[in-house]
Amino acid sequence: MRFRSRLLIHFDRLERNVGKIKSRAKTADILFMVKARAYGHGMREISHFSHFDLGIKNFGCATLQEALELRQNILGEFEIYVFSDVQLELRESADLYLNQRLIPVISNQQDLSFVLENKEFKHFPLTLKFNTGMNRLGLNMDRVEDIVSMIKKSGRRSIFHLMTHFSSASQSMNSNKRNLEQIQSFNKLKEEFRSRGIEIERSSLSNSGAIEQGVGLSETHIRPGLITYGPSSLLPHVTTERPWDGEIISDLETHVIHVFETKKGTPIGYGGSPCPADGVVIILAIGYGDGFSTAYQGAHLNWQGHRGQIVGRVNMDMIQVLFPMELKDHFQVGMPFTIWDHDRHHFETLSRETKLLSYEMTCQLTSRIPRVFSPGI
Ligand SMILES: *Cc1c(COP(=O)(O)O)cnc(C)c1O
Repeated sequence: MRFRSRLLIHFDRLERNVGKIKSRAKTADILFMVKARAYGHGMREISHFSHFDLGIKNFGCATLQEALELRQNILGEFEIYVFSDVQLELRESADLYLNQRLIPVISNQQDLSFVLENKEFKHFPLTLKFNTGMNRLGLNMDRVEDIVSMIKKSGRRSIFHLMTHFSSASQSMNSNKRNLEQIQSFNKLKEEFRSRGIEIERSSLSNSGAIEQGVGLSETHIRPGLITYGPSSLLPHVTTERPWDGEIISDLETHVIHVFETKKGTPIGYGGSPCPADGVVIILAIGYGDGFSTAYQGAHLNWQGHRGQIVGRVNMDMIQVLFPMELKDHFQVGMPFTIWDHDRHHFETLSRETKLLSYEMTCQLTSRIPRVFSPGI
């Protein structure tokens, strides 16, 4: 049996996107964010290709579970950072960090004390993330002096990787006040550590929006997520010298399961939403059971240069799409239909129409949509 809907992921597009990131950040190493199943694409496959074919040596996960899955399934020489659900407070997790060579990103004082006071962690790479204004996770900037003393008391003289994270990287890096303050605070932080004799081996602050705007590229590392998978992370009004020109790495494909002609005003589907115009309606085999959420109601899809609109409600297993009547002889049951492809502009238009984040559009696809990789692995 063939899969009727699928997310077809093209490694050649991923390779070109990574090439484009490298051409912008010539000296920085990539710490590739593959959390949340590589933003819904498939963490193992994406990481495997990125490591062995693209030479990526640093990966970022959100949870210890993700990091373990990566370590246990891909045998290679690479670092794995755990960013948010670090679970260092659990004894068995602490052992996993040591035994599986995983790096916890330390964002609070309790975890920092635990690592510095625990002899087993004496030679463990110390990775600290500071809150420079995002006010989510992160060590407190006001405690730098304390933290320096704690580090020195433990016999260390260096921080392996110093990080912070932007709250508003989708906004302008030149004029947004929060961005300017965060950049300034991070620079001040590095200076404070260095002036107190603590070496900083690695540093990073830039996620996609910052990288697109050329910020933070002289740190030792950058931490791209979204742009690697194709979409821009900037809000539409934010302009840059060198706009991101990535390709969406996936095609979301489904099939036509029914075709009928209809008149304006005809009730369509659940709730009987009146059809907005005369035309041909095609039924596609994808719905919110696939993670193609109700937010897509009213959004536009393209077919060979023609524009259709999702009409009526999004169902669990299907959607109705209205196309101009002149196409009626072109649609047949069983034919494939591509919801999005490499075209970043169409993907971003869908994101605007649905008010779904580009991040969400791929993350939310459920396991009913198989991820298929090209070339296959
Ligand atoms: C997810 C994440 C990133 C990547 O963000 P994008 O906007 O997807 O590029 C970078 N750094 C941290 C700490 C993150 O959690």
